[in-house]
Amino acid sequence: MKKIGVLTSGGDALGMDAAVRAVVRAGIAAGAEMYAIYEGYQGMVDGNGMIRRMVWGDVGGILYKGGTVIGTARCDDFRQRHGRLRAAQNLLNHGIDSLVVIGGDGSLTGANLFRQEWGSLLDELVYNDQIPYDVAEAHRTLTVVGLVGSIDNDMWGTDISIGADTALHRITDAVDAISSTAASHQRSFVVEVMGRRCGYLALMSAIATGADWVLIPESPPNLDAWENKMCSVLKNGRENGRRDSIVIVAEGAQDRHGNAISCNYVKQVLEERLQEDARVTILGHVQRGGSPSAFDRNLSTLMGTAAVDAIMSGQVTGEATLIGLKGNKITHASLEECLAKTKEIGEAIKSCDYGRAMELRGRGFQEAFQTVRTLVRAIPHDPAPGQKQRRIAVINSGAPAPGMNTAVRAAVRLGLDKGHKLFGISNGFSGFAEGEIQELNWMSVNGWAYLGGSELGTNRHIPANSDFYKIARNIEEHNIEGLLIIGGWSAYVAALELYQRRDNYPAFNLPIVCFPATIDNDLPGAELSVGADTALNSIVDSVDKIKQSAVASRRVFVVEVMGERCGYLALMGALGTGAERVYLHEEGMRLTDLAKDVESLVDGFKSGKRLGVIIRSEGANDTYTTDFMCTLLEEEGGDYFTARKAVLGHMQQGGNPTPFDRILATRLATNCITYLEEEIGKSEQVSACIGLQNGAFKFTEFHDMARLMDMENRRPKQQWWLTLRPIARMMANGRSHEKLV
Ligand code: ADP
Repeated sequence: MKKIGVLTSGGDALGMDAAVRAVVRAGIAAGAEMYAIYEGYQGMVDGNGMIRRMVWGDVGGILYKGGTVIGTARCDDFRQRHGRLRAAQNLLNHGIDSLVVIGGDGSLTGANLFRQEWGSLLDELVYNDQIPYDVAEAHRTLTVVGLVGSIDNDMWGTDISIGADTALHRITDAVDAISSTAASHQRSFVVEVMGRRCGYLALMSAIATGADWVLIPESPPNLDAWENKMCSVLKNGRENGRRDSIVIVAEGAQDRHGNAISCNYVKQVLEERLQEDARVTILGHVQRGGSPSAFDRNLSTLMGTAAVDAIMSGQVTGEATLIGLKGNKITHASLEECLAKTKEIGEAIKSCDYGRAMELRGRGFQEAFQTVRTLVRAIPHDPAPGQKQRRIAVINSGAPAPGMNTAVRAAVRLGLDKGHKLFGISNGFSGFAEGEIQELNWMSVNGWAYLGGSELGTNRHIPANSDFYKIARNIEEHNIEGLLIIGGWSAYVAALELYQRRDNYPAFNLPIVCFPATIDNDLPGAELSVGADTALNSIVDSVDKIKQSAVASRRVFVVEVMGERCGYLALMGALGTGAERVYLHEEGMRLTDLAKDVESLVDGFKSGKRLGVIIRSEGANDTYTTDFMCTLLEEEGGDYFTARKAVLGHMQQGGNPTPFDRILATRLATNCITYLEEEIGKSEQVSACIGLQNGAFKFTEFHDMARLMDMENRRPKQQWWLTLRPIARMMANGRSHEKLV
């Protein structure tokens, strides 16, 4: 039987626990014997009780916890060969020859070295009579799979590491709070965020919070007198109506010559040159605390499962493997190459080769930096000579989705900065018909980066009858040349309605871009829509609370989540909360399924279970409603449990957008403006919807978009996340483990 060890090592990151849970459960489900190695490499070196067999229940109830249950530590012994020798002996004493290591680049460097040395360590142990020859022969290779657990997101080879999203939650919460106090007193705040030599957290939090200046290690201001530039931007901002100034400084920030830039230095500069009261906030360990975000829980679960799959399928033999994420797909890469490239970035920064550092961080990082440089401006650039000024309108349509305002802000500022005129249409398509159109300037969207809801106003109205004529007239009257529609299903349908009437209404012959903004994540051409991550976090938070409320009672909860007939929120919510069962319209719902579930719940409660959670997508079945399910469970639960329903309702649509949604909104808006700019004025103008597809932003033209839509069920015909169902099922009860494709 395969014996697999799992450990967490180095700095702690939220989500590491969820990864341990996933590794242990996926391993058991795949027929392996699982061992947790406590306190990182120290436990491996010390052996004995520090290496413990894990069973299914040992990793129950830890999804929402902070810290790591099996402990993480730094270990100097493991840096020495003698320490690694003892570690190898301890692993072999348990018959373990496969490891899943969850940690930062230091921990993964150690893991890679350990694997390389394994053969010689075994030889030495045999030579010293510390292990028998046949034991060594039976475990000649050490299989190593690494998962990056680090808030810094500094590893090459994955878009994101476990813990970075949660750290961004803590940072944005703190900066949002600081912004409100700063605005009341017209103050400047200098905020230091973690990240060592990586500017990811600083850059992304600057985008997410609408900060006014950011300093990152990879790309210091390209001027010796950068202080003047920073001060003039901040001063200009104030003169143009900003009430606060927020400067975000990465802990590894440096200038062009490699000299560290500290928060205190920035404060001193602001006070001396702007005669302003400036305050420093060093966020420190707050960034590591709390409960993991929905994204980190699910990322860890998918990565942990993939790690076990890689080991059990024999995919990892020679080299050590790093499990990463690109877009929303799990990737496998050579750990050695990822470590080498990560090291190269560090060296590039150290030697002030910033071009190389930015190149290695990748396109997404570079684009984000360009965007932030535009967004922090106090006023737009003067138009470039010969630049055509276009007239672009922005509209919100459909139910409100957190992140709509962030998207409008980014689109307006990026459009203005390129010399165009931007118009905001209020109250969706009904407002469009009624001519509720206003020109927007730089400060019209100030402070919108973190606001939930829709400042422009939105509704589900789909144009009909006389609306078309009125909308066409308004387009002509305002001479609108391009239209950005930010919204959900009804927004897309409305866009198609205009598009299909181009022959009757020449005004509709303008490029239109549909931008996916709905909590339901049910749109064609986009694997993820803006708002869904915020809703998912609301669901996960609520279910955590529901679970806590039920500690003393034996109870089953049926939690109904939004999404109509699209089960994305339900499935991802179940994955993030460890719910026992999830019901989706896509899978259908049979009475026999319900009966089976009731039976297995009764069995569970008979043998000591105290709580059950079932998540139900609101449109799962019209007949077997949430009330029906509760009544059934209550009746059948008899003396074993009671049943309660929790309909989460509109709180899923509210709240300020999460950092993930703000960043996605900003990146999508950037691409939309570029697209419209390119299409306006072409003889054959194209209209399209934008979305993330396989890790890149792609445009799907309207005629394809219509083909991808399942109009009856109001969801795309193909939904990528349905492939995650076996993982959700397996994590809940050990059944149905199929390979992650
Ligand atoms: P992180 O994994 O978060 O980057 P560290 O750099 O502190 O954190 O590494 C964690 C542990 O990994 C170290 O305490 C040590 O046990 C091990 N480690 C780090 N680098 C090496 C190395 N070059 N060789 C062997 N072990 C290492």
